[in-house]
Amino acid sequence: MTQLQDIQNDYGRLRLYVNGQWIDSGSEISQSAYDPAKGNCIAKVPFATRDEVNQAVASGEEAFNSWRELPMPKRVQYLYRMKYAFENHIEELAIINTQNHGKTIEESRGDVRRMIDNIEAAISAGYTIAKGEQMDQIASGIDETLVKEPLGVFGVIAPFNFPLMIPFWFIPYALVVGCTLVVKPSEITPLPMDMVMKIIEKEVDLPPGVLNMVHGSREVVENIICNKTLQGVTFVGSTSVAKYVYKLAGEQGKRVISNGGAKNFIVVMPDADLDRDLPSIVSSFFGNTGQRCLAGANLLPVGDIGKELIDKFTRVAESLNIGYGLDNGVDLGPMVTNTAKERAIQYADKGLDEGARVVLDGRRVSVEGYENGFFIGPTILDEVSMDMSIAKEEIFGPVTNILHTNNLDSAIEMINGSTSYGNMACIYTSSGRIAREFRRRVNTGNVGINIGVAAPIAFFPFGGRRESFYGVVHPQIETIDFFTDRKIIVSRW
Ligand code: NAD
Repeated sequence: MTQLQDIQNDYGRLRLYVNGQWIDSGSEISQSAYDPAKGNCIAKVPFATRDEVNQAVASGEEAFNSWRELPMPKRVQYLYRMKYAFENHIEELAIINTQNHGKTIEESRGDVRRMIDNIEAAISAGYTIAKGEQMDQIASGIDETLVKEPLGVFGVIAPFNFPLMIPFWFIPYALVVGCTLVVKPSEITPLPMDMVMKIIEKEVDLPPGVLNMVHGSREVVENIICNKTLQGVTFVGSTSVAKYVYKLAGEQGKRVISNGGAKNFIVVMPDADLDRDLPSIVSSFFGNTGQRCLAGANLLPVGDIGKELIDKFTRVAESLNIGYGLDNGVDLGPMVTNTAKERAIQYADKGLDEGARVVLDGRRVSVEGYENGFFIGPTILDEVSMDMSIAKEEIFGPVTNILHTNNLDSAIEMINGSTSYGNMACIYTSSGRIAREFRRRVNTGNVGINIGVAAPIAFFPFGGRRESFYGVVHPQIETIDFFTDRKIIVSRW
């Protein structure tokens, strides 16, 4: 039974938002955006032409001149307006997010909440981190000042999986320091940001050109990065593209933050408190249908906890309710596209070919009333070893690989040595000593201790190492230092 209703069934051909105006793209290339639970097209996404991208960057450049001159307290008022506007539209934003992405309505509400958290953090950072430094009398009669100056127009390239939160890892920080932006949402899930821009247009009244939005894929990203005026780009997505964006932006002499994919390990020690921790472990693997860069992928029971863990974990996993995220009581939505679904299934098939044993098989589920949806149920594979591709490569779906290990050392060895990713690792234990050793030795940017999704709040940077991250400054609050440059003034009067 449907609890909440879709806002519309068909959003038509999306438009670009450039210089405070909605424009129809002249492009002949477009792609369909889907409701993945129903399997039907709900919008057409035009891929902006190079001229349209250049117009968007030019309008950002034009707006930069006056936006940067606005006093900080005035710029901050726009962010307050944005925050309250989104607070007033949480439900619509969450509904459209679920309709286009497939995640459950609760997961979508979390996505909106995290977006708003970043606006709040940016407001605070505008008055603190962005304010520079001063030291009197560095030599007799000489003072030294450091000011953080905004650099200009930046690009923000987003992935499909958090259509709201991830663009806002960057947008509010750029705006608060006086930069302007061209945002390109994922072409797979563009509708939530389309709604965001409509809310901003009506209720925030940002000066034209401060925040622009174009749609597209590879070529549009290249045109953004290669535009001469653009100062830099932030990217979040798969590792192969993250690497490419990092290289291309570097060649163009641009600043870049580039976050890639993940393969996260969840270690469960024999002294873990399973009754307390099981919901958190299950949610790590199957929340957001496994389409989270902080999702658990490899489950590592240590020592003799394996059988009990697998039994209990499987029992909870098989009780999860699969369906449309707007319906009552749904725990697990569909995969975002049919391609993503088939890819996850192919990985599970390959794992079985390579010698894994299936404990729970969600490869061919059908959901009543949503027979065309891109569903796959929780799938658990035991007897996986590190030489199998399912253990090393990112699947990005609700597939759990179980790899048994004898001790903490071999678990850490697997985490640090057997995949190229370094996004997150978690441990479940009752021992502070073991937890401390784990957090100090694992080579990942985010670490969870008795937490299965170690998602940093906006006031902390979002970690990532090795092939999960290219750059120096990480998303969220640190980006104040990405969007500004330091100018040092040494003065004597
Ligand atoms: P993706 O790499 O396919 O696409 C990301 C963005 O890049 C999209 O806007 C897309 O239009 C663009 N793009 C696609 N191909 C391109 C190309 N060849 N050249 C230039 N741009 C291109 O990623 P996705 O499928 O949208 O998102 C899922 C991936 O994102 C997963 O790998 C996941 O782990 C990763 N992710 C990472 C983080 C993190 O913080 N490290 C966070 C969320 C998601």
